[in-house]
Amino acid sequence: MTSKFLSVSFILAAVISSTAFSLQPDQQKVLLVSFDGFRWDYLYKVPTPHFHYVMEYGVHVKQVTNVFITKTYPNHYTLVTGLFAENHGIVANDMFDPILNKSFSLDHMNIYDSEFWEEATPIWITNQRAGHTSGAAMWPGTDVKIHKSFPTHYMPYNESVSFEDRVTKIIDWFTSKEPINLGFLYWEEPDDMGHQLGPDSPLMGPIISDIDNKLGYLIQMLKKANLWNTVNLIITSDHGMTQCSEERIIELDQYLDKDHYTLIDQSPVAAILPKEGKFDEVYEALAHAHPNLTVYKKEEIPERWHYKYNDRIQPVIAVADEGWHILQNKSGDFLLGNHGYDNALAEMHPIFLAHGPAFRKNFTKEAMNSTDLYPLLCHLLNVTAMPHNGSFRNVHDLLSLATPSAIPHVQSTTFIFGSDIPVEYEPEESYPYFIGVCLGSIIVIVFFVIFIKHLIHSQIPALQDMQAEIAQPLLQA
Ligand SMILES: [Zn+2]
Repeated sequence: MTSKFLSVSFILAAVISSTAFSLQPDQQKVLLVSFDGFRWDYLYKVPTPHFHYVMEYGVHVKQVTNVFITKTYPNHYTLVTGLFAENHGIVANDMFDPILNKSFSLDHMNIYDSEFWEEATPIWITNQRAGHTSGAAMWPGTDVKIHKSFPTHYMPYNESVSFEDRVTKIIDWFTSKEPINLGFLYWEEPDDMGHQLGPDSPLMGPIISDIDNKLGYLIQMLKKANLWNTVNLIITSDHGMTQCSEERIIELDQYLDKDHYTLIDQSPVAAILPKEGKFDEVYEALAHAHPNLTVYKKEEIPERWHYKYNDRIQPVIAVADEGWHILQNKSGDFLLGNHGYDNALAEMHPIFLAHGPAFRKNFTKEAMNSTDLYPLLCHLLNVTAMPHNGSFRNVHDLLSLATPSAIPHVQSTTFIFGSDIPVEYEPEESYPYFIGVCLGSIIVIVFFVIFIKHLIHSQIPALQDMQAEIAQPLLQA
């Protein structure tokens, strides 16, 4: 009877203590993948069995609102900082900072000046400061020294490195003796071909099929390395793409004197720096120039774009309507597909899929913001989030219920320099975790006390017998 009771007690205690243990803060492994320019509805343009495989066994968000301007560098930096462009400082692919008196240009790969990146702290740095390791295969910004550091492992940007070689590096880092817990994988397509062909071209079909095959390759390699069920794979993109036409070109030379301004960024959001004393002239000349061009003085830029409070945003911006292209004159480069337009436009929206131990299975969510990814990553990696513009509550439902909660974050409302936008520090769901641990501990202690009592009780007769045996020779002596 006693032994049966003890066995049951032990099993119960073990189960409860293991439950309590599994509720303790844990670090999940995360691999964040970006297929540049993968528009949300490319998933349905041609059969994409590998994307649908991830959706069936993981989660899918139908509508992801990215940040203005819907360009590559601003959005990739948002994904890893949770900040709007005005707050993280990478406000365009081509920028001029009047305080630093420096330029930044993706076109000329002049992107390595640390000062442009240091208005924010990307998650790989936060992850490493918490004692973890990160590895990046070409994710924009990961080969730039930011706040004096690089990712633990990274590949210097080289577009000629194949997707397969990038995957090999990622797998090596996740399976090394000191494995990374956070990986980044970037691929340039279908953006490049989307620009060249235009998203409406039937020739985009094979391009999308090729991306689906590349995802298939990644899944296959993760499975081969026994990582498929242990790494949380998040597949997203920076922006979508819309069809342009040679019939829809706005030529700035028709309205503005070239000598009156510097064109910092061109299309579809022209960033215009008027020469000294020429502001009114430039603004008035452009304000009513073209019915498909909306011109804003910096202070009049709509709040919903969160694109105002940064020195790198120029005094005048001119935003083209969807599908319209801004050129200085027709000798400039024309593209059949482009992005960068209003982030409220569906064509500008990227994909979001995820699979792994932290995520629900076969779950579809209607909408999220790309800024919400950052607090989700912080939760999974169990690191404290920096101030950001996202919301963990907005994406919490993507996670399976068994996911351990992260350490609680301090709740406060703060302001980022140069912005009047309050930034969230969100509290994590810490109460269930603490209640779980407390209850588990109490029950384990109670069972332990009962067990000790029974042990003592069952040992008393034996002790009495032994004492009798010891006592007997003494008495005989
Ligand atoms: Zn892009």
